[in-house]
Amino acid sequence: MAEYPTTAHGNGHARPSETLTGTPASPGVSIGPVFILDTADFWIDYGQISQDRIEEEVERFDRAVVEVGEDLKVIRGQVEEKLGEEHARILDAHQMMAQDQTLHDATVERIQVYRYHAEYAYRVTVRDVARRFDAIQDPYFRSRKSDLHEVERRVMGKLCHREESFLDQLDYKAIVVAHDMQVADMVHMQSDHVLGIVSEVGGRTSHTAIMARGLEIPCVVGVRNVVESLQPGDMTVVDGTRGLVIINPDAETLERYEQEAGERKVEREGLAGLRDLPAETEDGRQVQLMVNIELPIEAQSGLNNGAEGVGLFRTEYLFLGPSSDPSESEQAEVYRGLAERMAPRPTIIRTLDLGGDKMPYLEPGEAEMNPFLGWRAIRVSLSRPDMFLEQLRAILRASAFGEVQIMFPMIATVEELHQALEVLAQAKTDLREEKVPFNESIPVGAMIEVPSAAILADELARHVDFLSIGTNDLIQYTLAVDRGNDRVAYLFDPYYPSIVRLIKQVVDSGKRHGIPVTVCGEMAGDPACAILLLGMGVDGLSMSTPSLFDVKQAVRSVSFSDAAALAEDVLTLTTRDEIRDRVTRGTVEGTAAFLN
Ligand code: PEP
Ligand code: MG
Repeated sequence: MAEYPTTAHGNGHARPSETLTGTPASPGVSIGPVFILDTADFWIDYGQISQDRIEEEVERFDRAVVEVGEDLKVIRGQVEEKLGEEHARILDAHQMMAQDQTLHDATVERIQVYRYHAEYAYRVTVRDVARRFDAIQDPYFRSRKSDLHEVERRVMGKLCHREESFLDQLDYKAIVVAHDMQVADMVHMQSDHVLGIVSEVGGRTSHTAIMARGLEIPCVVGVRNVVESLQPGDMTVVDGTRGLVIINPDAETLERYEQEAGERKVEREGLAGLRDLPAETEDGRQVQLMVNIELPIEAQSGLNNGAEGVGLFRTEYLFLGPSSDPSESEQAEVYRGLAERMAPRPTIIRTLDLGGDKMPYLEPGEAEMNPFLGWRAIRVSLSRPDMFLEQLRAILRASAFGEVQIMFPMIATVEELHQALEVLAQAKTDLREEKVPFNESIPVGAMIEVPSAAILADELARHVDFLSIGTNDLIQYTLAVDRGNDRVAYLFDPYYPSIVRLIKQVVDSGKRHGIPVTVCGEMAGDPACAILLLGMGVDGLSMSTPSLFDVKQAVRSVSFSDAAALAEDVLTLTTRDEIRDRVTRGTVEGTAAFLN
C-alpha cells in the first residue's frame, strides 16, 4: 500500500508555505496530501521502511552501485573500441560518481535515519548534490550535473522495477503531481482517489488537461520544478481556476480556499436549474450544446449538466487503457452502451486519433521528431486498414441501438476522406452480407482541424453530412504552436484573426452545402468564444462537462442579432488583442472567459 510520511516532509521539520504558478487547466479547488508520480523516469516508493529492513535496504543499495560499476566497465570497453579512449574517459567520470563515497554515505544515512527506501534516499541525495552543482559558477562543473543524472538513472534503474498502471494502486485521496502526466497514466488512475492534478509540462489543450476537465478534477499544468519543490504528503492546494499550487498553506489560506470550494459547490448547484432549459438566445436562436468525453463514464455527468448529446467521443482512450487492444466486439459493446445511454440524443464517435501525445504502438527507438506532424489520427487508421475496418464495423454495429454518428479526425486532403469513406463502405458491405443490423444512413462527418481542410471545406462538405471544427489542432497547426508546450502558450489563442477567419470560412462552406457545422475544440467551452461562434453561424458546440452550464448561461443572456453583429465586427479586426477586447467587452460583458 502506498503511504506518505505523516510529518511535513519525512524528517520532522515544518516547511514554510510556497506558491507556484502554472497554466490553469481544469477549474476548481482541491486540497489534500501530495502523491508524487515520478513519470519523468522511475516510479519510487515514498513510504517508510520498518526498522528491521534497514540493513537489507542498505545492502540492496550497495548491490545496485556495484552492478552499475560492472555495467560501466563493460560499456567503457565497448566505447573505447568503437569511439576511442577520449570518449571512454567520460565513463571513468561516471564510474567515479557511481562509487563516490559522499553520495554513498549520505544515501545510507537517509536509509538508516529517515527509514527511506533506497531509491528515494538515493534520489534525495543526488538532487541535493545537483542543487549544489547549480550554485557553482564554473560552467564545466555545472555541466557535470548531466553526468550525475546519467549515473542516477543507472542506479535507479537497478533499484526500481517499473510497474504499469501504478496509479491503480493509489489507495487514498491525494493530489497527483508529476513531471509529465501521460495520457496512459490518466486512463489507469482511479479518478475518485485523485483530488487534483499538477504537472510540470503541458498546456491547456494537452490531452492530460482535457481529460482532467472531463473528469472534473482541478488541474494546473506547466508548473516548473514542482516535483523538486514537494515532499510526499505535503498538504497542498490546487487552484485550477487561477493556475496556482500552494504548498503547505497557512491556516488563513486554507480557510479561504475551503470557503471558496464551498461557494463554488453552491454556485454549481445553483446553475443546475439550467439543465433542462434550452440553449437559446433572447431572440430565439438555438444552438446545440454537447459534451466531449474521453471515457464512457463521463457521459452521465454530461447528461447531469444538460448535454444534448455527445459531440465528440475520443475513442483512442479505449486503446490506451487496461485492455490496450480491444476487439471489435469489445468496442461494439462500449459504443452500444454509450449510444443507449445517450439515446435519443446523438452520439458522435470519432475514429481513432492515435499519435501526437497518444501513441501506444511506438517503441522508444521509433519516436518521431515531430509526432504532431507525423503518424497521427486518420493517417494511422488508413495505414492499418484491418484495425480501421474493425473500429468502423464496431461503430456501425452500435448504430442499431442509438443515434450514432461517425467522425474522421485530422482530415487534411480530399483523398484521405475518400479513402476513409471507402473503408466505411467496405464495413457496411461486410455487415450487410453477414446480416448484422446497422443504420444504413448513419451520418458521417469530417473534422476540420488542419488549415488544409479549412481551405478545402467546400470540397470536403460535398462528401459528408456534417463538419466539426477541432480548434485545438486548428490553432496548433495554423499558428505552428505545439498545443502542449507552455513556453509558446501565448500563441495558442483562438482570438487570432487567422483562426476566426478560418472558422468563418468553414461555417460558410457548410451553409453553402446545407450541412451543419459544429465546434468541438476547447474554444467552444469558453463562454465569450461561444457567443462569437454562435454569431458566426455555428450550429452546435461540444465541450467538456464543467463548461456546459457556463456556456448555456452565456447563450441565454445575449440576442443572436448582437452576437451576429459582434462576429461581423470581429471579422474586420486584424490583431488578437483587438479581437479579444471586442469579444470580452462586447455583448458578453460579465461572462467569464476561461481561456487565457
Ligand atoms: C481538437 O483538435 O480541437 C479536438 C477536438 O480534438 P483533440 O483535442 O482530441 O485533438
Ligand atoms: Mg484534434
